[in-house]
Amino acid sequence: MPDTKKKFEKKGSRGMDEIAKTLFAPIYPVIAENLIQKFGITTGTCVDLGSGPASLSIAVARQSYLTVIALDYSRDMHEAAERNINEAGLSERIRLLCGDVHAIPLDDDSADLIISRGSMFFWDDIHTAFREIYRILKPGGKTYIGGGFGNKDLRDEIATAMIKKNPDWEEFNRKNISPENVERFRTMLDEIGVPDYEIILGDEGFWIVISKKEPGAL
Ligand code: SAM
Repeated sequence: MPDTKKKFEKKGSRGMDEIAKTLFAPIYPVIAENLIQKFGITTGTCVDLGSGPASLSIAVARQSYLTVIALDYSRDMHEAAERNINEAGLSERIRLLCGDVHAIPLDDDSADLIISRGSMFFWDDIHTAFREIYRILKPGGKTYIGGGFGNKDLRDEIATAMIKKNPDWEEFNRKNISPENVERFRTMLDEIGVPDYEIILGDEGFWIVISKKEPGAL
C-alpha cells in the first residue's frame, strides 16, 4: 500500500475523525456556506473527493437540497463517515463511494458540484486527478477544491492550536499555500487544457474553482 494511503487508515482515520469533530468542527458549516453562496448550486449531485469522516458532505447536505456522494479510498475513513452520516440522520442524502480520485468511478458530466477539502495536497498525480474531475463535472457545474478553514478568525485559531499540537504542521500548511504550490496547480490546469478556472487564495483558503461551460455557450 502506498505510504500516503496508509496515513489515512486505522490510527490516521481515528485522528482525522476526532479532529473533525472537535477543533475543526466549526469550519465545515462556514466552508459549505461560502461555496453555496458563491455558486448558488443547491440541487443535483455534489461529489466530495477525499471526504474523510464526511464533515463537509454533512454540512453541504444540511445547507442545500443536494445529494452528496462522499468518495474516499480509505475504508477506515468510510467507517467513521458512515457513523457520522447516520448520527446526522442523512443516510438518505449522502452516499459513500469507495474510490480513488485518479480513477473516479462516476460517469462523464454527472456532478453539478465537486468539492474537496484538505485532500488534493496528498494526491500522487494531480494531472490525472484533475482530468478525472473535469470529466465528471457537468456542463454548468463548478468545483471548489483545495484547503482552508473558511475565514480568517477560524484559520488563526486553528493554526495556533495545530502548531501547539504538532510543530511540523506549520511547515506543511505553509508549503500547501506557497506561491510555488499555487503555480504548480495553475500550470497543471493549463497543461491539461481546462479552459475556465479561477484560483482563490485568501482568508477562506486556497481553492480551485473550475467552471465547465454548457455546450455551445461562449
Ligand atoms: N475532506 C476531509 C476533511 O476536510 O475533513 C478529510 C481530509 S483528510 C486530511 C484527506 C482525505 O483524503 C483522507 O480521508 C484520505 O483518505 C483522502 N484521500 C487522499 N488521497 C486520496 C485519493 N487519491 N483518492 C481518494 N481519497 C483520497
